Amino acid sequence: MRKTVYLKFILAYVIFGILSFVMISSYGSSLMTETARHRTARKTYSEAVKIAQTYASDLYNTDISLESAQRQLEAISVYLQSEIWIMNPSGRIVINTANEPDPEEEVVVEGFDPTVTGGSYYTVGKFFSHFEEDHLSVLAPITRGYKTRGYVVIHCPLSMISEEADSYLNVSYIILLILFLLSLIILIFFTEIIYRPLRKIIRATEEYAAGNMHYPLNVESDDEMGYLSASLSYMASEIARSEDDQKKFIANVSHDFRSPLTSIRGFLEAMLDGTIPPERSSHYLQVVLNETDRLTKLTNGLLTLNNLNTRGMLLRRTDFDINQTIRRVAASFEQTCRSKGISFQLVFSGEILYVNADEEKIQQVLYNLTDNAIKFSRNDSVITIETSEKGSKVYVSVKDKGIGIPKDDQKMIWERFYKSDLSRGKDKKGTGLGLSIVREIIRAHNENINLISTEGVGSEFIFSLRLSEKNNELEEE
Ligand code: ADP
Repeated sequence: MRKTVYLKFILAYVIFGILSFVMISSYGSSLMTETARHRTARKTYSEAVKIAQTYASDLYNTDISLESAQRQLEAISVYLQSEIWIMNPSGRIVINTANEPDPEEEVVVEGFDPTVTGGSYYTVGKFFSHFEEDHLSVLAPITRGYKTRGYVVIHCPLSMISEEADSYLNVSYIILLILFLLSLIILIFFTEIIYRPLRKIIRATEEYAAGNMHYPLNVESDDEMGYLSASLSYMASEIARSEDDQKKFIANVSHDFRSPLTSIRGFLEAMLDGTIPPERSSHYLQVVLNETDRLTKLTNGLLTLNNLNTRGMLLRRTDFDINQTIRRVAASFEQTCRSKGISFQLVFSGEILYVNADEEKIQQVLYNLTDNAIKFSRNDSVITIETSEKGSKVYVSVKDKGIGIPKDDQKMIWERFYKSDLSRGKDKKGTGLGLSIVREIIRAHNENINLISTEGVGSEFIFSLRLSEKNNELEEE
């Protein structure tokens, strides 16, 4: 493929050269011959008219002698490189610059007809079979008192005109050659601007196709080629990144599945072989149950994330009261809160606050955030959940007085399976998927979620939602 583009371009270049040559040598040649004929005819005719009005007229008026007129016309004929005649209307040649006048011999052009030029002012041919080769002949009448006394006839050999045309043609060939050589610059540009970058790009795509996504592709030009290569190398880096992510993801999943499975197996084996006495087995069965809970949670989290990640996540948007949803979520944690002495403080901007979102998914967001807040809160502390209205948005904040999140971890907590070192001791059941799910849901709503947290003081997660127009209807009522 590589060779073909280049060869095609060279082929086009050669075809261009051949066609230009053929055009000039055929059409150009006839055009130039025609032009040379017209030019010579025009020039010769005006000379003939001048001669008819001066020397020839003088001759007929007997103002100058035949010899003297002959000399003058010979000089002009040398200059014109043509044969000049003065002839009577009957066809008798009075003066012929090609021959000395001979009064004894009378030369008559047989069949002479002054209308031979037709509508034009020149004729091409052997002039009534007088010449052996073709001539371009012009005729100018010598008049006196409205009577034609004779004609000035100038004959220019066609071979001379062809020579002139040929010299024009040669100049055209030289110009064509120069243009052809100059157009080599286009070939150089093509090679440098298109062909070389294209080869680099093809080489890189071959490497990418073979799986070498880290192959460097550098085309440093700010044109389409540069843009294409930048897009390609961006694509490759994205694929490489997603491959890495996938590997990391699978490693994490396997790890998170393996540890509960190992501990379940360990306890069960110990119970079977009697290492754990039967009277203690109920305690360890509870541990095994907890581990299976963790596995279930992990599987559910993965399934949720997988569903959320599917492009164009389907949201079932409705107008619902976010305050009511918060109350419901808080109530579902009542039992857990009681055991830790944690209480909720719900701060709402009004009794009812409608938002436009997918209720089920937002409930999941609130559930995950509240679950984290409780897990990482100190005993006997307060968790504040607050809603506020600003413009067309509603901001929901979940704030705890817990262990907080170290600055370095704040960016990482949104990643799947990420658990900060601080939290590991406190939360053995965590999967590290909760916040990834939260982020995906908020993103799908085209909204934002932010975190403000200080280590040892507490954390606050704030996300935005679209205010529903239903609130306006409520106000109007
Ligand atoms: P998990 O299910 O393990 O809680 P998340 O994705 O919900 O996973 O959270 C990831 C990590 O972010 C947690 O392991 C914890 O380190 C940190 N984190 C999340 N919420 C809080 C919070 N309210 N206070 C302190 N740390 C938190």
